[in-house]
Amino acid sequence: MGFTIIPICKHCGYETESISIGGGKMNHLTNCGAPAWNIQTDEVEEINLYSDVNRATVIKRFLYFFKRNFVIEKMNDKYVPYYEPRMFIEDKDIGTHNWSNKHYKKSKNYCPKCKSFNLEFVDGGIHFD
Ligand SMILES: [Zn+2]
Repeated sequence: MGFTIIPICKHCGYETESISIGGGKMNHLTNCGAPAWNIQTDEVEEINLYSDVNRATVIKRFLYFFKRNFVIEKMNDKYVPYYEPRMFIEDKDIGTHNWSNKHYKKSKNYCPKCKSFNLEFVDGGIHFD
């Protein structure tokens, strides 16, 4: 079910350990791995979308006569996940790693070390279930 990727920067050579995306048979209800930029340490790290994402419901009023509930997804202050559009350069020729409704670009991702968009998510070759 899940699989791994390895972040490697073509520009500065930055590389991290492999990162798991998604979850396995045993833990897919509680664990959903994803690559994210750790703002405090400037590292790319694996986070768990199920525990590192805070969900908050906000009520927004429109035109005084109807109201709607919106669920917003807010990461804690530390992480920006790589499915966020500002974490990569949009390029339709570049393929994606997909898990559920989350998509990660295979290249042109933001590198926290050299601040360029040269980070690739190379296939880690491990698929787990
Ligand atoms: Zn770099």
